Amino acid sequence: MQTSVVGYPRIGARRELKFAVQRYWRHEMDAAELEGLAASLRLTHWNTQQTAGIDLIPSGDFSFYDTMLDTSLMLDAVPRCYRELGLAPLDTMFAMARGYQAEAGDVHARPMKKWFTTNYHYIVPRLDADTSLHLASTKPLDEYLEAAAAGIRTKPVLVGPYTFLTLARYEDGRTAADFADQAAAAYADLLGRLAAAGAEWVQFDEPSLVGDLTGEDVTLVSSLYRQVLSAKGDAKVLLQTYFGDTRDCFQDICSLGFDGIGIDLVEGEQACELVRQHPLPEGTTLFAGVVSGRNIWRNHLRTTLATIDGLAAATNAPIVLSTACSLLHVPYSVDAEKGLPAHVTEHLAFADEKLDELALLGRLADLTQQGRDADAALAANDRLFSEARPGADEAVRSRVATLVDADFTRTPTRPERADIQRDELGLPLLPTTTIGSFPQTAEVKSARARHNKGELDDAGYEAFLKGQIASCIRLQEEVGLDVLVHGEYERNDMVEYFGDNLNGFVFTDAAWVQSYGTRCVKPPIIWGDVSRARPITVGWSAYAQSLTDKPVKGMLTGPVTILNWSFPREDVSRREQALQIGLAIRDEALDLEAHGIRVIQVDEAALREKLPLRKADWHKGYLDWAIPAFRLVGSGLAAGTQLHTHMCYSEFGDIIGDIDAMDADVISFEASRSNLEILDDLAREHFQTQVGPGVYDIHSPRVPSTDEIVAALEAMLKRIDPAKLWVNPDCGLKTRGAAETEPSLRNLVAAAHEVRQGLGA
Ligand code: GLN
Ligand code: ZN
Repeated sequence: MQTSVVGYPRIGARRELKFAVQRYWRHEMDAAELEGLAASLRLTHWNTQQTAGIDLIPSGDFSFYDTMLDTSLMLDAVPRCYRELGLAPLDTMFAMARGYQAEAGDVHARPMKKWFTTNYHYIVPRLDADTSLHLASTKPLDEYLEAAAAGIRTKPVLVGPYTFLTLARYEDGRTAADFADQAAAAYADLLGRLAAAGAEWVQFDEPSLVGDLTGEDVTLVSSLYRQVLSAKGDAKVLLQTYFGDTRDCFQDICSLGFDGIGIDLVEGEQACELVRQHPLPEGTTLFAGVVSGRNIWRNHLRTTLATIDGLAAATNAPIVLSTACSLLHVPYSVDAEKGLPAHVTEHLAFADEKLDELALLGRLADLTQQGRDADAALAANDRLFSEARPGADEAVRSRVATLVDADFTRTPTRPERADIQRDELGLPLLPTTTIGSFPQTAEVKSARARHNKGELDDAGYEAFLKGQIASCIRLQEEVGLDVLVHGEYERNDMVEYFGDNLNGFVFTDAAWVQSYGTRCVKPPIIWGDVSRARPITVGWSAYAQSLTDKPVKGMLTGPVTILNWSFPREDVSRREQALQIGLAIRDEALDLEAHGIRVIQVDEAALREKLPLRKADWHKGYLDWAIPAFRLVGSGLAAGTQLHTHMCYSEFGDIIGDIDAMDADVISFEASRSNLEILDDLAREHFQTQVGPGVYDIHSPRVPSTDEIVAALEAMLKRIDPAKLWVNPDCGLKTRGAAETEPSLRNLVAAAHEVRQGLGA
């Protein structure tokens, strides 16, 4: 069987692109040099795939920043303020990605959002009264020709028009319907040119098709593609879907005349069944996504072969084997990992290992049963999946298995706790606090680096951190905050720090994955059963509390966030993993309480991001275990201990009831970017949890004025009971400089005082 790759990472195995782009931004590299480096990376990536034996190799999946942003530029969806800067196309693109501040002008960055349920962020297109979509550049064609010139035949990959239009933000009263014909014409123009250039296959990525679709949505899809496909000439067009199945439109898309339909058999629960029920039209090729682009584990070849055989029995269509989605979401190669034991690495497959698996599956799929049974590679893979993995912990398993309702229920009720906490903590109306971290200065980072290298011994590092904590406490007391924090100086990352101190996690050296633009993350891997190896934060929090009479908030990362920002294991359920982590964090929370900490914040920054794409799956597939995992952390705390949580995005308008059911006493979240509608939702849903909607944006170095914060608080008080309102920034301060942090916090406290006075408190 032939093989196809949906997309390949672009940042470079050694993050070459990241470093080059950053040098370009610092004017240490010119555009020509940057373009040269990009071309050589593209060539390396195509060669790697060709060498692995992949038949349909993607091109056009390269980007200096983000392919959605590239698509905006290609279609001329460049808002006026960026156009007016009069920059070269590359710099206009970077201005949209990161903002621009120089003589030519001063513009903000376009907003960025998570790409479906991944941790990749795309730049949100803006379509407004000024927009007229047309083919303004030919990046996909250029890259196709570049590969062809190097002797490599590729399959150009495009973000499809439906996904582009559904993810765009509309202004000036416009809607997707206003741009559908323009978009279709632009894509048709491009498709015609690709066909004329000799492209055999052209791939249209349409992940938006796997969500809940209305009849109107399906009509839009059909009308877009009727126009686009009319221009296909001799090219074959592949409609590539991923991150789920297309149950709401499968029959419709099959009837549009595509030459190939790409389905995700890893995440698409009903994908196989849809093919069985609705035969593909004669001449259509089925692209079967069988190798995950999201996990880092070896493919279980036997199971996958059974899936392929089942599919082949269900359809007459020719089958091409493919990755289930782009490999963008996994690191490059396990070869770079020198620090992991062999019994771990043999279970891992990053992008390059997945190419080999795909090629191997292509070969095995064509063999008879006897041929397969005689295959050494298949036998080795069988062995990997039949042996028990080290790392099982019976004590943890049975702790999870014996959990009862009471373990998820905190008593007394939240209103009763609020009274007790008010008396015990003695907080004023509109209490002020921060989200946890204070600026990670060069000094803090350098001390950590020296400690990691062994240049600073444990005692020296501990003394350094205590010094930082002491001055952080002094600063907060002096500024007049009500609930203090220790500053999180000991943490590099809110998940890695906990993973480091929990049994069951392993860490890679170089397994970077692009998160946005030049930013990469290196998620830890959950390898075995998770438990708390030792007290994690207790020493730091207790030390901070010893320095002040004000309450110091203990800072923990919640189980759902630890799980979502790690590579989860697949031999046990996500529910089981979340509960194991929940128990470990519960142990830490109880330990904090035992050491005199009276306020504990359990961050769930990533809870919203893995909410399933289909509403029908929200509870059964996710919230039904995610919310209990959080509740498990807090249920053992005394009534007087105040439990806080924090979420970064306030995009939870649709799951407000579930957020309330976390049963935290207080929640803080981002609301500074004019997201005050969320407050209306809270009021309407009778949200019980006390709330601290962020009063200023910490992603910007601006110092908010007292008046601004007063105005924000007054707007909030129109919707929130003063007894339930907290005053805080919208996220942690770790990326901020010390210079802007102190005046910002002074203004925040001054604003709270002013508003309190107005309330007669
Ligand atoms: N407590 C963390 C901090 O302040 C929360 C970070 C986050 O929400 N991403 O840094
Ligand atoms: Zn946050």
